[in-house]
Amino acid sequence: MHILVTNDDSITSPGLLALVQEMRRLGEVSVLAPDRNWSGSGHVKTLDRALRVREVRLADGTVAYASDGAPSDCVALATLGYIKQKIDLVVSGINYGANLGHDVTYSGTVTAAMEAVIAGLPAVAVSLELPEGHTGEVDFTPAARVASWVVKQVIDNGLPPEVLLNVNVPFLPLEKIRGFRITRLGLRVYHSRLDERIDPRGRPYYWIGGDAPGGVPERGTDVGALAEGYVSITPLHLDLTAYHALTDLMTWNLPDIQDL
Ligand code: MN
Repeated sequence: MHILVTNDDSITSPGLLALVQEMRRLGEVSVLAPDRNWSGSGHVKTLDRALRVREVRLADGTVAYASDGAPSDCVALATLGYIKQKIDLVVSGINYGANLGHDVTYSGTVTAAMEAVIAGLPAVAVSLELPEGHTGEVDFTPAARVASWVVKQVIDNGLPPEVLLNVNVPFLPLEKIRGFRITRLGLRVYHSRLDERIDPRGRPYYWIGGDAPGGVPERGTDVGALAEGYVSITPLHLDLTAYHALTDLMTWNLPDIQDL
């Protein structure tokens, strides 16, 4: 079992190191991750510039590779041949902060796993919930133990084709986590606000600011599971078709294109 580990918080993140150390108990591990923070970068394919990769060492001495590409670029690089030995599984994380509901389209952590699905590989994205305004050290040990169990299930049982798992871990000590819940995506509530400021030359510039996002803690959703102290495991696929809208659209009287 050859596991590729990546993330979006950069190769220096303690969350990546904690994940690498746990994954090593399950198989051989290769690490290819971004050389800077790509949080919130979404699903990226870099086409207009060259990508660079350099060998680095993680804090425990592990040989790893850092790229100036996005998390999804890192997965593409690795699976397209930068890593010579065939990769069996991709694990992304452990992210600083939960990736719930609509977050999944913003998340570099989750979109790295999406890139793995495109490469035909099973993938797991792992994120650790952080309380609003949390600063200082973060203990990734509980989330790494959770990731290890989930990835072991994927190794033993496989995943349906084209499916990735989005795993979110509550910010609790292992003994306080209440268990696992299989969930669907919930509803994030964003509080984004445009913050306009003036630069020293009198020109306006902008920050997308505002308070941290909340969510609707509905039973059965990832948001609901975390709110109750459970790990959420949400299966995702890349088919964004709104199937419920198809029948409605089928009633449209579609004109002959020549009549436009
Ligand atoms: Mn991140």
